[in-house]
Amino acid sequence: MTTVTNLGFPRIGAKRELKRALERHWSGEDDTATLQAAAAALRARHWKLQVAAGVDVPPSNDFSLYDQVLDTAFLFDAIPHRYRTLAEHEPLAAYFAMARGLQREGIDLHALEMTKWFDTNYHYLVPELQAGQAFALRGDKPLAEFREAKSLGIHTRPVLLGPVSFLLLAKTTDGSAALELLDALLPSYVQLLAQLAEAGADWVQLDEPLLVQDLDDAARAAFERAYAVLGGAAAQVRPKILLATYFGALDDNLELAASLPVEGLHVDLVRAPEQLDAVLKALPAGRVLSAGLVNGRNIWRTHLDNALILARYAQTDRGADLLWLAPSCSLLHSPVDLSLEKKLDDELRSWLAFSRQKLEELRVLADALDGRPSAEAGLAANRDALDARRRSPRVHNPAVAARLAALTGADAQRHSGYAQRRVAQHAALQLPLLPTTTIGSFPQTLEVREARAKHKSGKLSLADYEAFLEQQTAHCVREQEALGLDVLVHGEFERNDMVEYFGEQLEGFAFTGNGWVQSYGSRCVKPPVIFGDVSRPQPMTVRWSRYAQSLTRKPMKGMLTGPVTVLQWSFVRDDQERDLTCRQIALALRDEVNDLEAAGIGVIQVDEPAIREGLPLRRAQWRSYLDWAVEAFRISTSGVRDATQVHTHMCYSEFNDIIHSVAAMDADVISIETSRSRMELLDAFVRFNYPNEIGPGVYDIHSPRVPDKAEMVDLLRKALAVLKPEQLWVNPDCGLKTRGWPETRAALQALVAAAAELRAEQ
Ligand code: GLN
Ligand code: ZN
Repeated sequence: MTTVTNLGFPRIGAKRELKRALERHWSGEDDTATLQAAAAALRARHWKLQVAAGVDVPPSNDFSLYDQVLDTAFLFDAIPHRYRTLAEHEPLAAYFAMARGLQREGIDLHALEMTKWFDTNYHYLVPELQAGQAFALRGDKPLAEFREAKSLGIHTRPVLLGPVSFLLLAKTTDGSAALELLDALLPSYVQLLAQLAEAGADWVQLDEPLLVQDLDDAARAAFERAYAVLGGAAAQVRPKILLATYFGALDDNLELAASLPVEGLHVDLVRAPEQLDAVLKALPAGRVLSAGLVNGRNIWRTHLDNALILARYAQTDRGADLLWLAPSCSLLHSPVDLSLEKKLDDELRSWLAFSRQKLEELRVLADALDGRPSAEAGLAANRDALDARRRSPRVHNPAVAARLAALTGADAQRHSGYAQRRVAQHAALQLPLLPTTTIGSFPQTLEVREARAKHKSGKLSLADYEAFLEQQTAHCVREQEALGLDVLVHGEFERNDMVEYFGEQLEGFAFTGNGWVQSYGSRCVKPPVIFGDVSRPQPMTVRWSRYAQSLTRKPMKGMLTGPVTVLQWSFVRDDQERDLTCRQIALALRDEVNDLEAAGIGVIQVDEPAIREGLPLRRAQWRSYLDWAVEAFRISTSGVRDATQVHTHMCYSEFNDIIHSVAAMDADVISIETSRSRMELLDAFVRFNYPNEIGPGVYDIHSPRVPDKAEMVDLLRKALAVLKPEQLWVNPDCGLKTRGWPETRAALQALVAAAAELRAEQ
């Protein structure tokens, strides 16, 4: 009989119950016991839901109060010195301090660094390690959660982050190599495995997603050494080990993965179905193959007939007992339950599957493999839904296809090179040296958010809402004029979110009411669903930019979200390649850019903060991704005259790997986030001899702290030491929407003064 297993279930709860419980605890409303009870209730509910959906072996220890990497660090006592005293007395407070910092009487602890989990929008906390440090098994979370499920009559497979991935995802504070710590770490894993076996766990899942990335010799050697210890004959009592890989193909690491002395291997057959044949050949006889056949990263129904072909092929090779069916990766990256979704129309909903439905799909596949007649109904329903989607007139728009087909290289090329454009732009804009500007948004005050909520719920008419927004915009323009900024913005008060705002106005997008996915800790996002060809029925932002420009003689900067960022922060179609969807978005944005220009907007910014995070996990695939990403940006921005100045903005980026492509975007001006790194992020631009204009951020907008003029002058001098004065813009790191007005005003005043001081010296 074919076994259905799961690698991980979303822990936040269908109605974000964990978010609420955490926030009540953090605010002091709920004590630790109340929080733990809420967490236990969610775990119990999720185990039962998985069993009811047909899962034979659900996971345990996939739950986390904040993050599974932080859990691992905590479990093995990798607690940096600064949290130690607190950890002695209040372990949970120390855990949360590592996650989000802690400021209270006599204590001021900053949090661990947070970064993106592979190419997902989930963020993990980066463990801080140092040479020579010790590890110890601390607490018993995996054991306790295994027992908790057992007491509910549910036999689970505990999930642990594997030792090599753990070390490679960590950073060292002393520049030493984290892998040097492997031998110190392994005994704690061995001890934990023994305890799990004693508690009755027959299998354990060790996640080693690093195996789908490019590995150097040291990392390969670490895998061999680690699993010789954990899996080798020398190991004492332990559960069988399922080595889990996901997010891509094993490729050149396949031989390595297959050679490790473990009992099973999980592979991602959604991202990399083509690896099945090679995996079956490489995997020794007698070893379990866990086949990841249902996409854990997207919300579409699985093509069950296709999945079944792969499953049958694997079954012929392995036999039914050694084949398990599973999602491609943990379902952490999918919303919980489609049946609770009320906002989508019935047709669209019939095309989708959230976590619960994905597990039901696996059950149908397993039943079909085992020859149960009951599977037929599930397969037939799946075929019908997929057929309907394929044929739906909502998905395909011949006009979009025709436009794409007519695109030529010239459409992705400004009329003249930067040098010539620069002359035209300077004549048109008449800006001073070191021009000042901001990144787009101004404070989204409670008042603004309340007005939007009222409008959404029908309590504020469209006319009144727009009048309110005009008032906010006018106020924002007056403030900027008073501050003496050179290039103004309208403030983005009409926007809820930089992707949603555009998605709501474009054809081909849908929005869920409850499709929450954890981003980090208690924070969740509800990505838009791109289900069809993208087009722009009418202008989206022109009204606001034109209004704002009518209030001032200074240049008003139009503000758009770029095609790659819209793509990256949405659930995208699985029936066509990502680059094609991206090009469709680019064409829609091109119309908007051109309309802004026609409305008299001479400076247009197209934000692309997500370019860097979209980089594929394997270097070999970077080139093709970067090529189409750059092309999409250029399609969006190349329809304008030389005199129209195109800006772009990127944050959360590290530029060393992508500077060629950033330069190839050929924006006239780019603003980046540099204040935290004290201009270090500029290095890549300097080394590359970046020719166009740059605004390195001089004000860290992630903090309520107001930097003074001297501090900004200092940062600008650093920038002037490596850039030509004609290249340099003066601006904050990013948009100001999370800040309040008083601090914004004070910081921008200092910013304008800093620019003036240096301008006088040039
Ligand atoms: N224009 C956007 C803003 O100012 C940019 C946001 C971002 O880069 N994340 O809010
Ligand atoms: Zn930004």
